[in-house]
Amino acid sequence: MSRSHITVQNQNEVFVCGHCGLTVPLPEAGTAHRNHCPRCLWSRHVDLRTGDRMSVCRGMMEPAGIWVREGNEWALIHRCMKCGVLRANRIAGDDDEALLFSLALRPLLLLPFPAELALGRLLPGGGRAS
Ligand SMILES: [Zn+2]
Ligand SMILES: [Zn+2]
Repeated sequence: MSRSHITVQNQNEVFVCGHCGLTVPLPEAGTAHRNHCPRCLWSRHVDLRTGDRMSVCRGMMEPAGIWVREGNEWALIHRCMKCGVLRANRIAGDDDEALLFSLALRPLLLLPFPAELALGRLLPGGGRAS
């Protein structure tokens, strides 16, 4: 049996955001993995699995949307600009709330179908109730 020489890097090290240039500080207590910038929400494709830092891609990842997970927990969907992979990441307590909100609103503002038709099927009485 040979001894293992796996070096576990500190996953909570300070990093500089590749999108807006903010020096992202150490995470607050309760934030397991700081993997995106709290100011612009951009991330970098460094993980194969969350927190492993094993990806060789290193592309910038744009915040592409919001996913509501089990327990009503919000997750950010990141899309890599370089390889196109999609990733879900937990939001952090100091993420920009206005940006998160606008991400969640974006699909509603850019509906590919008439809102009246969809609402009509959601509402009792075919949406004509008033
Ligand atoms: Zn940033
Ligand atoms: Zn990538």
